[in-house]
Amino acid sequence: MKDLSSRLTPFLASLPVYVPGRPIEDVAHEHGLDPASIIKLASNENPFGPSPKAIAAMEKAVRQLHLYPDGSASLLKKRLAHQLGLEPTNLILGNGSNEILEFVGHVILQPGVEIVVPEFCFAVYPIVSALFGARLVTVPAVDFGANIPAMLQAITPATAAVFLANPNNPTGTRSSGAAIQSLLDGVPRDVLIVMDEAYVEFLDDAVDLLPAIRAGAYPNLILCRTFSKIHGLAGLRLGYGIASPSLIATMEKVRQPFNINSIAQAGALAALEDFDHPTRTRDNNRLGIAYFQQAFASLSLPFVPSYANFILVKTGNGSAVFAALQKRGVITRPMGGYGLPDWLRISVGTPAENARCLNTLREILAEA
Ligand SMILES: *Cc1c(COP(=O)(O)O)cnc(C)c1O
Repeated sequence: MKDLSSRLTPFLASLPVYVPGRPIEDVAHEHGLDPASIIKLASNENPFGPSPKAIAAMEKAVRQLHLYPDGSASLLKKRLAHQLGLEPTNLILGNGSNEILEFVGHVILQPGVEIVVPEFCFAVYPIVSALFGARLVTVPAVDFGANIPAMLQAITPATAAVFLANPNNPTGTRSSGAAIQSLLDGVPRDVLIVMDEAYVEFLDDAVDLLPAIRAGAYPNLILCRTFSKIHGLAGLRLGYGIASPSLIATMEKVRQPFNINSIAQAGALAALEDFDHPTRTRDNNRLGIAYFQQAFASLSLPFVPSYANFILVKTGNGSAVFAALQKRGVITRPMGGYGLPDWLRISVGTPAENARCLNTLREILAEA
């Protein structure tokens, strides 16, 4: 007799699985460690936590949880639009920018179409591609970074979308303004450009694509941003897409009416009022990246110069080094799943966390 499996969407069988960073509680339990003694430098989270203003606003919002959230998150959208010099009609909010990527899938991906991504792209793009039955076309990287001329060449009449994170996760590389411009101008107008800017706030001289959005110059461009990284609100799940009003209106059709909960709306609104917290985060990150890069150079460990809040380092046998670090209470991210089995990705922590991570790594490598 046939069972339900015969009815399941066929794409599910080969769907890649997203492997998140290990939670502190899990690791504490596994190794019999005090959770307070563990540091997590695995998911590019903000080592300073959320803004105190956001915490206060979220505590207050808890008391109103018997009410449905504002389904269009109008206050937050208005505030965010104002800060970006855009209209609220240029914005769509998601349960993390992950959900924005899924909206993209809903509106543009289906069996028979292709998406073009660079090698070492963010793990969610292949998942979204497979979820909607699209075919993933991976373009080999150059020096770990996106090869934009080759990505343009990979576009065929079947291409529905091009995905690019700038800076990229997990490599920390970034594409130049000229390369980005050539992408915008070289991609046919019927192909969506998904520019993932999850780490854009960490750059001192980011390629600013907001004027292009304001001018309506690229109706086939969507920027994805998030409160998870610079604002330290990864647990809140809030991201947003920035695009032309017509693309946004199309994506709004697939959005659940209450996808942004009231706590998230309150927390994000307050986070946007705190300009010190992102500045402090950026300053700490700049120091942390410099610290790791200098240390890796002096240890003769190859690394990829980073423009984000994490760094990729070649330790050799990444999964063993990851496990040894974890046993000593330092959680990092092994990169085997990205085809980089000799590498680890380390998120920037506080100066004390960075030093602990580095010292532990040095001990482990000396013992090996
Ligand atoms: C962290 C990250 C995001 C953010 O995801 P959220 O769902 O907003 O937490 C998006 N894209 C990339 C490349 C990332 O590294």
